[in-house]
Amino acid sequence: MADTDIADRATRSFRTAISLAQWNLWTQRPSLIAYCLLIETVAVVTTAITAFTEHVSGWDLLVFGLLSGFGLLQAELGREVERLRLMSGSPHINLTSVWSFAGVLVLPSALVTGLVAILYLYLAVRRPYRLRRGAPFRVVFNAALVVVTCQATAAVLSRTPAPDLAAALHAGWVGSGCLALATVAYFVIAALITIPGLSAPDRSPRTLFGGWGDNLLEVATLCLGILTALAVTTMIELALCILPPLLVIHRAVLVKQLEIAATTDEKTGLFNTTGWHALAAHELDRAQRTDDAGFGVLMVDLDRFKRINDEYGHLSGDAVLRAVAAAITGAVRDYGSVGRFGGEEFVVLVPDAHQAEVRVVAERVRAAVARLTVEVPAASGRKTIDGLSASIGLATYPESGSAIDSLVHAADQALYRAKDTGRNKVVSIADLG
Ligand code: GH3
Ligand code: MG
Ligand code: MG
Repeated sequence: MADTDIADRATRSFRTAISLAQWNLWTQRPSLIAYCLLIETVAVVTTAITAFTEHVSGWDLLVFGLLSGFGLLQAELGREVERLRLMSGSPHINLTSVWSFAGVLVLPSALVTGLVAILYLYLAVRRPYRLRRGAPFRVVFNAALVVVTCQATAAVLSRTPAPDLAAALHAGWVGSGCLALATVAYFVIAALITIPGLSAPDRSPRTLFGGWGDNLLEVATLCLGILTALAVTTMIELALCILPPLLVIHRAVLVKQLEIAATTDEKTGLFNTTGWHALAAHELDRAQRTDDAGFGVLMVDLDRFKRINDEYGHLSGDAVLRAVAAAITGAVRDYGSVGRFGGEEFVVLVPDAHQAEVRVVAERVRAAVARLTVEVPAASGRKTIDGLSASIGLATYPESGSAIDSLVHAADQALYRAKDTGRNKVVSIADLG
């Protein structure tokens, strides 16, 4: 990209950021606009109130400067990790609650708002490409959510016998209890006030509250927040010791993400060959150790798929592949694990099932593909693709093989027979005799 291009883009994103009228907040759904404005108003009003009611000492300003400095340093040192994470398409993660939660425990609330503002402003300025796509309103909204979380947590803490960390240090177990309460309050308030702002159409608990890993990460940052606050109030220079573990946590998240990327098929989100094999090996292990049911392997290949590509184009073909992936996943429900072995060939593991049950699942998959209709863009508006079908080869453990490779091979042979004998059918290796 030419230098002038980069300069042009930077200027454009800067203009968007400062021109309120251009923020794509105004194109969001009305309930989200209302919620953003509500949270931002609460953030501003509570900050203004606390700014007038709480005394700020010189020491507070020093701690404020220190926490801001560490926060900026951490964000700067973590930029490379964040760049790698963003490249693999995952959302930005935020470890800034280490500093904001430490702030809640040791600083007057108005200064905590200042701290959050500085850290989020930095994130926005250092990521102009995110500002362009993610819209400045998201940055402001996220910062306001953190401010409201901090203000609410500080309000909870101020009503306990130990209203800040210095008091908690002299209150023994009661002090520890108050800190634990503040941690839980921060965690719960942050989770609850984030929900109405999520744009995910799927409202499952996992999308709303994140997985175990996400929550553990949040708990880890809050724990580091307590240690930071403790260092600040006892031996201020020790706060520097928080930075290395924080950077290691950041890297650990990257490793987990790379692991997911290495086992996931990018086009469909299903397991790729590596991921599926790991899962199948696990299931084989379970079946060998117990006397319970075995398991099944289905090889699913779309019929005459090349015609779809020829007629509608490769991109439409891809859309069909994604729809088929979703249909197969839906048909096996959470009962099986679906992978894509490349091309238009899918593989399904049907765990803990006897031959007859595996066949029922296979028929369900076949029927789900046959029922599928996929809308794709066409020269004359949109077009609906239907009449899809799949041939399925079936093998079961222990009847058709005792290793994953031999089961996959057996299912493949059955699949060939299904293709040879008319397609759109399920053939079991056991049927071949
Ligand atoms: P059948 O299996 O019924 O014998 O016929 P088929 O047309 O499906 O034949 P085959 O399995 O040999 O062809 C697979 C086609 O799938 C070839 C290729 O054009 C297409 N294909 C493979 N991978 C992709 C992909 O990632 N995206 C798209 N759009 N098409 C793909
Ligand atoms: Mg095919
Ligand atoms: Mg094929």
